[in-house]
Amino acid sequence: MNQIIDTVIIGGGAAGLTAAQVLGRARRSVVVVDAGEPRNAPASHMHGYLGHDGRSPAELLAIGRREAAAYGVRIVRDAATGAERAPSGGTTVTLRSGAPLTARTLLVATGLGDELPDVPGVAERFGRDVLHCPFCHGYEVCDRPLAVLAGANAAMSVHQALLIPQWSRDMVFFTNGLDVEGADRARIEARGVRIVDGAVAGLTVEDDALRAVRLADGTEVPREALFVGPRFVPHDDLLRELGAERGQNGYVPVDPMGAVAGLPAVWAAGNVVNPMAQVIVAAGAGSAAAGSISAYLLERDVERELAEARDGVRREARGTGLAGSRPQAAAD
Ligand SMILES: Cc1cc2nc3c(=O)[nH]c(=O)nc-3n(C[C@H](O)[C@H](O)[C@H](O)COP(=O)(O)OP(=O)(O)OC[C@H]3O[C@@H](n4cnc5c(N)ncnc54)[C@H](O)[C@@H]3O)c2cc1C
Repeated sequence: MNQIIDTVIIGGGAAGLTAAQVLGRARRSVVVVDAGEPRNAPASHMHGYLGHDGRSPAELLAIGRREAAAYGVRIVRDAATGAERAPSGGTTVTLRSGAPLTARTLLVATGLGDELPDVPGVAERFGRDVLHCPFCHGYEVCDRPLAVLAGANAAMSVHQALLIPQWSRDMVFFTNGLDVEGADRARIEARGVRIVDGAVAGLTVEDDALRAVRLADGTEVPREALFVGPRFVPHDDLLRELGAERGQNGYVPVDPMGAVAGLPAVWAAGNVVNPMAQVIVAAGAGSAAAGSISAYLLERDVERELAEARDGVRREARGTGLAGSRPQAAAD
């Protein structure tokens, strides 16, 4: 059955669930469709979220789902496969296995994917001892033998090489084919970083822990954690199917409350439009979007109720034989 609801939220991570909780508490009918693959799932613990430091990402979301459900939010484990404007002005979302959902407003909170350097072992250990964000997991490996593996994004690789010594002065930068010369090389070396040129062939893992980075010539450089700079791929297919276009920064533009430029009644929050959003920022963006969605729905409700009130007065007037005269109540 195709039912009309106030808000459908695609993505049940920090952004989507926060919005769901706010809207559920505001007595709105909300359905969250979530494929259940949050970006930080490979990590066993999460940092930088006040009050939840060290909590497992899965546990945070389980709490979030429970809290949202307590306010009447329906959470569906499914994947949205398409979206189109509904004649009513809302959006109809098609699902992989369930029936389509039509809602007056849509919030896309589908996150992003991390495209990792194509080096054997990197994907398998991502979120454990292959890391990308020192603010999330740097403290846990501080003063240990660390490394940065350069990737396709040269600026990000150089930035990481400069930044990671903040957590450990025992730092190696594997350029892995990236041409790092001139000022960049001097700046990195000035931080006490050892630069190792040459191709990286893989990782040496023992007892389920990173022991070394292996070069193509067979040399092993002992390391305990490796930072990489993934290419971020926003999960914005639904937004683009609805007509949104990516801006110059590679992301669909939204206003400070998450409203998608040029798409009425559509919002986006979290990593899908902001790769820098940590969990707490994604949650904040979800909250802001919920506030904006609430204001939008309120305005439409008032318009409809006003129209209904005018109609009702007219009908009443017709019933009393006064049709055609100007009803005082409606005029006021
Ligand atoms: C390894 C790792 C560790 C991290 N550690 C930290 C940390 O310690 N602290 C921190 O603040 N940040 C951390 N981050 C960043 C954190 O993952 C993001 O800030 C956060 O996940 C963003 O939340 P989000 O709601 O935007 O997206 P997500 O959490 O990725 O949630 C998006 C949800 O949408 C779902 N989805 C996607 N497409 C569809 C679809 N078509 N239909 C239905 N559902 C869909 C996904 O399955 C997912 O459940 C880490 C990231 C990584 C990669």
